[in-house]
Amino acid sequence: MDCGKHEKMVVMHIFSDGECIVCDKEIQTSHTPCNMVCPECSEKYELCEICGELVISEEEKEKHLEYFEDVKYRMGAEGFHYCFEGYSHWNEIKDVKFHELRKLYLDTAKKIEEYVDKKIEEYGEQLYF
Ligand SMILES: [Zn+2]
Ligand SMILES: [Zn+2]
Repeated sequence: MDCGKHEKMVVMHIFSDGECIVCDKEIQTSHTPCNMVCPECSEKYELCEICGELVISEEEKEKHLEYFEDVKYRMGAEGFHYCFEGYSHWNEIKDVKFHELRKLYLDTAKKIEEYVDKKIEEYGEQLYF
């Protein structure tokens, strides 16, 4: 499947190789630049084979507008951190990039917390023992 934005793409009769951005499998396409997503991942995750963007129906688009508006609202109402850490994992949102960033944020937040704990321990030991 594709997102329908690529009709004007010039098709050159050369083959190019690339890797699927989802599963890293090798892809060979008869145009350049090479497709971003392999056919299997395209079907499985509803991604455009050509650019890797999510292909969603108008109805899904409306839902996702609401989801993202809710995320935005909850960032303020629940607090930015709790919005992602405790309030919800936002699994209804079908967006690879969004979840990548969400996980990166939570990982980083955890690392900061661990670092602060470590520093408290280190300075405490240096000063009181
Ligand atoms: Zn793939
Ligand atoms: Zn596309």
